[in-house]
Amino acid sequence: MNDSIENSIIKPITHFNGARKCHTAHYRLDEMRKAAVSFRDNMLAKPQVKFYRSMELIRVPYPSKYAFLNCNIIPMPFIHILNRVFVVQVETEEGLKTILLSASDTEGNAETPYFKRMTDKAGPAQGLLKKFIAPQINTVEGCLKELNLKPEDIDYISYDHLHTQELRKWLGNGTNPGVLPNAKLLVMKDEWDSAQNLMAPQVDWYCPNGLAGIPEDRIIQLEGDVMIGEGLAIIQTPGHTVGNHSFVAHTPEGLKVTSENGVGPDCYAPEHSRIPGLKKYAQHTGMEVILNGNTLEGGLEQYISMIVEKTIAGSHPVYTDFPNMANSSELTGYWGFPGYKPTVTYGDLHFGNLTLKS
Ligand SMILES: [Zn+2]
Repeated sequence: MNDSIENSIIKPITHFNGARKCHTAHYRLDEMRKAAVSFRDNMLAKPQVKFYRSMELIRVPYPSKYAFLNCNIIPMPFIHILNRVFVVQVETEEGLKTILLSASDTEGNAETPYFKRMTDKAGPAQGLLKKFIAPQINTVEGCLKELNLKPEDIDYISYDHLHTQELRKWLGNGTNPGVLPNAKLLVMKDEWDSAQNLMAPQVDWYCPNGLAGIPEDRIIQLEGDVMIGEGLAIIQTPGHTVGNHSFVAHTPEGLKVTSENGVGPDCYAPEHSRIPGLKKYAQHTGMEVILNGNTLEGGLEQYISMIVEKTIAGSHPVYTDFPNMANSSELTGYWGFPGYKPTVTYGDLHFGNLTLKS
């Protein structure tokens, strides 16, 4: 990132640098936990985002053995997860900026090998199966329209990690500018490098060629934690993937933390969860969180990252037993996959007033 305009919008956070260097995971957890407490206090003392809205996109099946890693759960092989897109506006030294988080190309993402195998098995009944297992609620374009935002209003897009993402639709491939012609991708360098050079255990979860040909000037590779203007932080939280990051948004309801290291508030407070198996597993093992582990790119790092996430988030203002998470892929109840129901859900979130460019 050497563009000077970008440098005045995206500013490094050095708060966790010392703690991250702690060599042993045990001590790293202690230091990261302390750093998360003071980072939370700092961020709460500073301005909030101007606008924050989360909107439902699609529900998709996800293996329960990954969602609740190592827990002794009921035999239902799938849970249903709800993908949301987030629209955030922040004040910056270069004026108001609009950021789209977790904007999934639901059609393109279906090419991800894991999901494609599932639907291909259905043969001619594919359409029906898709409607049953992956009901679409809205599209990113539909959400923007609902908000009266034009695609060219979006300044940045970002994803907590790149599993299943087909980004060419949004950012183009060099010959066309994509649906979001002015947007730049904010991504951790580690995630970008990893996704370009997949290993066998990762391949099933990345959309083939989903990043191919995206012009370099549409990509901002981050090498550490950053603030995006006022009220929005991107914090490195490796584990679920090597370059995973979390969004921390300062809202009137405290700090909302978004990531897929866990599949919902239950996994960040298993001691209070009513999902079969989670509480018992946490009691037997002393685990403070339950990992979302499909590719297991870094188990201990993920454990530390999830504790950092829930420490930064603090308690939800209403459901005080659970942290203030706003997970981008969240466990949701569904009649098609009975047995799993989240203990709490916070629904779509809406804070502040959207500013439209004239
Ligand atoms: Zn993932």
